[in-house]
Amino acid sequence: MKELLDIMAKKFNQPLRMCISCRQRDAQIHLFRLQCFDSQLSLFRGSGRSFYLCKTCLADEKKAIKALMRQCKSGERDKFANILKEIIIDE
Ligand SMILES: [Zn+2]
Repeated sequence: MKELLDIMAKKFNQPLRMCISCRQRDAQIHLFRLQCFDSQLSLFRGSGRSFYLCKTCLADEKKAIKALMRQCKSGERDKFANILKEIIIDE
């Protein structure tokens, strides 16, 4: 399946990105692009470092928060949970 995705991506010239939680690669359009600024989590706003989370991991709140806290080097679990909910609602 992974190989197939790679071939498809090359064929359609779609960049593959890796989910920070499950490390599965997928086309960028299937992933949520997020960023951390001063340990604040938000959707990517066009500048700075960003990272990706797939929809499957986003649906698994516990798993997603764990990966995000690691990525943002933050321990504010409740805050992240709230931001995550907002992101899901927006989508
Ligand atoms: Zn994932």
